[in-house]
Amino acid sequence: MWIGIDDTDSAHGGCTTYVATEIIRELSSEYDIIGYPRLVRLNPNIPWKTRGNGAVAIHLGRGYGKKRLIGNIEERVYAYSSGKEIWNEDLVKKIDEIIKKHAHFYDEKTNPAFVVCRNKPSYSFYKKAVRKVVSIDEAIKNAENCIYRMYKEGRGIIGSVASCSWRPYDRTYELIAYGNEKWVDEDSVIKMDKKIASTFDNYDYENRHVQIVPNAPSPVMYGIRGDVAEELIKAMNMIKSAEVERWLIFETNQATDDHLVRKSIRDIEPFESVIVRGTVSREPRTIKGGHVVFSIYDGDEIDCTAYEPTKGFRNIVRELRKGDIVTIYGGVRKEPRTINIEKIKIEKLVDVYEKVENPVCPRCNKHMKSMGKGRGYRCVICGMKVGEEMALRRKIKRNIEERFYEVPVVARRHLSKPLKRM
Ligand SMILES: [Zn+2]
Repeated sequence: MWIGIDDTDSAHGGCTTYVATEIIRELSSEYDIIGYPRLVRLNPNIPWKTRGNGAVAIHLGRGYGKKRLIGNIEERVYAYSSGKEIWNEDLVKKIDEIIKKHAHFYDEKTNPAFVVCRNKPSYSFYKKAVRKVVSIDEAIKNAENCIYRMYKEGRGIIGSVASCSWRPYDRTYELIAYGNEKWVDEDSVIKMDKKIASTFDNYDYENRHVQIVPNAPSPVMYGIRGDVAEELIKAMNMIKSAEVERWLIFETNQATDDHLVRKSIRDIEPFESVIVRGTVSREPRTIKGGHVVFSIYDGDEIDCTAYEPTKGFRNIVRELRKGDIVTIYGGVRKEPRTINIEKIKIEKLVDVYEKVENPVCPRCNKHMKSMGKGRGYRCVICGMKVGEEMALRRKIKRNIEERFYEVPVVARRHLSKPLKRM
């Protein structure tokens, strides 16, 4: 059976993954864990989400086959590669107790839920929950053969069902270490980052930021992400930190780009995440707050924004010129309607020229005078007029190349696939 949990955290702390460790602590003497517990991120553009929009799913049964170390919660925690399904409704009462003890009920935005599924819900529900806006009713409909509990508004039912319905066609892993005291040595993170090549997004060298440490109150001390689960344990052993009270490895949809859908501009809807190709139609300008906005056109037009937190990435975007062909990857905001850029592929850079000199009159051999921007030139002696294109021009060297650029690690969204993984 699959247990899905969501929406137990708040802006003030808590973490649904921590509730997962508590469930494992309480239930691992009675049940075996099949496969890695899962941390599933859902649509990052939902405005009413609790922080990271991450739900958790755990598969319990009677294990057989290979057994792997996946964590330490008071004692070593193992997971089996396969298992026999079992069904026990008594489990519900225990999970209910754990959630009541650990969820942040006092926060109005926290609306927990959990689900216990005999069979996995349909994969299509996951796809919808990571890409679109889904309702509580749709989640309940997909939880047909499941037992579920909803608390308060019960919005967490969406993530609970969606996390159970995920199938990892692409996957990464995250080792999460918990502790009461929060201290992580920066140098040890850099060392680990350079040594364990299968990990990613550990450290932002451009902004000197330790990315493995959460930036909001949380029982999490750090989380290391990577492509190879076993190497995360090696990575953890390289980190110098305060005492790790427990740790657990999750299989995740982080860094997979699962949220993105290829679209043309006219079909783009708010709260989606899209891949869209177009020609730069309005050149970048910096607006209040330091955000950089430009527009692209494919028959229809839309704004694209590199927000202030993307730091140095904005300097790349500022180099775009009218006529450049680009593919934008990012989430769609409703008001103002714009794409929040996660990465950009520059497909084709246009030639850009700058004027070096005004044209010379062919009769008088003297420099002509401009009649205003874009209106050509006129000879002050004989009155002859010529077009703008007659000026002596020089091709400007472009400071960007035809390739991918991504936001720095510090601004990366959970679901965004880093170029390192592409
Ligand atoms: Zn002349």
